[in-house]
Amino acid sequence: MLLVLSIPVVACDEGASGTGAGGGGQAGSGGQGGSGGQGGAGGMSASSSSSASGGSGGTGGAGGAGGASFDCSNLPLCDDFEAATAGEAPDPTRWAVVMPNCTGTGTAAVDATQAHSGKNSVLVTGKGGYCNHVFIAHTAAFAELGDVVYGRFYLRMSAAQGDGHTTFMAMRDENDGPKDLRMGGQSKILMWNRESDDATLPSLSPTGIGMSVALTADQWRCIEFQVDGAAGAIRTWVDGAEVPGLVIDGTPTPDVDQQWLTQKPNWKPKVTDLKLGWESYAGQDMNLWFDDVALATTRIGCQ
Ligand code: CA
Repeated sequence: MLLVLSIPVVACDEGASGTGAGGGGQAGSGGQGGSGGQGGAGGMSASSSSSASGGSGGTGGAGGAGGASFDCSNLPLCDDFEAATAGEAPDPTRWAVVMPNCTGTGTAAVDATQAHSGKNSVLVTGKGGYCNHVFIAHTAAFAELGDVVYGRFYLRMSAAQGDGHTTFMAMRDENDGPKDLRMGGQSKILMWNRESDDATLPSLSPTGIGMSVALTADQWRCIEFQVDGAAGAIRTWVDGAEVPGLVIDGTPTPDVDQQWLTQKPNWKPKVTDLKLGWESYAGQDMNLWFDDVALATTRIGCQ
């Protein structure tokens, strides 16, 4: 097909593609200076799934903010994992530990060795190979969310992103199979991927790779996204700064969303769950800690 010819490098489930681009350049982007105010973080522990009030103002900038407490208890999902017990699964009323299609050696449990807020996070011990995948999955909040879904979570990884294709977030897209809309990495950078046709955002050309960011080892990073199902759009922020290579705006842009939009011009995602974990198609192992996970109808920020 003609469509395929213009794509420099296609995401794949194989290892070490020869990108040669050195990726990584933009690592430290956001001027966040170390995982913001994790101090008390008290307000976050409150129960979730309450009213659909949607409030919380779409705070912009993020960055150092420093505020110790961030009350997100009115959001459709807000979990700091402080009410859970280390070594056990996260709150089963909010999360299911899932291994879709096949089961392997990956594990997911609350952990007290690392935390962005308080003392707990969720540790995913991720292993290479598709069937070693494991995720914590949440669905209830999506009943309160409309066409536009905002998400925010903090992620810490034990190693930098590798060359091979990986996923650490997946959302079931009812309008696309249903297959998953994925966030993860390839060519050492943060990347979106569409399971149904393996389209990537950005395109994995040297220019596209340079327009994303690299998630480095042993550092809490604030990941935010907007998925607009009505518009068929995506936006992505890391540590409060928008990532220009991780934008789908409906207008095909070379090296960014041209492949995504050309392969499926009528792409209009309807996401119905949030899965955080690890799926590694090329063999990379990874320990990942997730904390302060929230879903909302407006931007949440990195408070
Ligand atoms: Ca926590």
